[in-house]
Amino acid sequence: MFDFDKNESRPMQKFAVFGNPIAQSLSPTIHQMFAKSCDVTLSYTKEELSLGDFAEEARQFFADVQFKGCNVTVPFKEEAFRLVDRCSPAAQLAQAVNTIKKEPDGSLSGFNTDGIGLVTDLMNHGVRLQDATVLLLGAGGAAKGAVHPLLDAGVGQLLVLNRSTDKAVALAEQSRDSRVVAMSSAEATCAFAPDVIINSTSASLSHTLPTVLPEFFERCSVAYDMVYGSEPTTFMAYAKEHGAAQQLDGLGMLVEQAAAAFTIWTNEKPHTQEVLQFMRKSM
Ligand code: NDP
Repeated sequence: MFDFDKNESRPMQKFAVFGNPIAQSLSPTIHQMFAKSCDVTLSYTKEELSLGDFAEEARQFFADVQFKGCNVTVPFKEEAFRLVDRCSPAAQLAQAVNTIKKEPDGSLSGFNTDGIGLVTDLMNHGVRLQDATVLLLGAGGAAKGAVHPLLDAGVGQLLVLNRSTDKAVALAEQSRDSRVVAMSSAEATCAFAPDVIINSTSASLSHTLPTVLPEFFERCSVAYDMVYGSEPTTFMAYAKEHGAAQQLDGLGMLVEQAAAAFTIWTNEKPHTQEVLQFMRKSM
């Protein structure tokens, strides 16, 4: 039995975000706003999948002919990478998938739009990435997703600094690009002058800071925290105190990664700024 698109009498396309926990997700609101602005009718729900049973439960959703795609969030992005039949270069490097599209033949394509969202948001704020020296703090899933799009945007050097240095080293090796250099905190001296500093660690969630020299902020044009909230994050406050010209949080990244997913599913390019303003106000 089909649920029908009320306007056009055709089966409604269904989408969802999979995570655990998922109650906090803003994705349904964002995608419904995109759909309205593009005159597309779809349903988008949030689904809490069981830990340890991701692949089986995800397959049950995709067995529904009306179910066309999903977003995937913590902690399932790596399992989603293993589930799909093929994936984009960014997802391959990250070994993590945040967007799945069901192709007409029923096979699953995986993408990682987090990094595209980050780069688009930086560009929306006028941040110049071409030939820039970028310091990336963290080497988890979000950092991995960011590397490919930052390289594609033309950064001159991408320095990766992580609490566990071995993960930064592995990330630099996996990138197979000489512009990506892993640093230990002992090597992260004032000899480096990053133009852009991106905090991809989850430290701000616990109101702590990753190890980073305060002097780095004096000359940087922007300090970007992937974490977002109703107040400036701990990292943004620290960056401001130490001279960063601009501090941004990750809400724009969230909206832009969603827009990239929406385009993958529908071929429509939604306007993001109104949605971003709405999300900012409602936080
Ligand atoms: P992971 O768990 O994969 O990685 C976490 C990273 O943070 C690791 O590098 C870890 O270091 C580091 N870290 C955690 N706590 C601390 C701390 N107290 N001090 C220093 N480093 C720390 O998470 P993700 O990479 O998936 O996500 C990271 C953050 O990015 C999350 O807060 C998430 O909410 C945010 N995010 C935002 C998005 C957006 O759209 N705005 C999209 C995706 C993610 P170590 O390796 O040493 O453990």
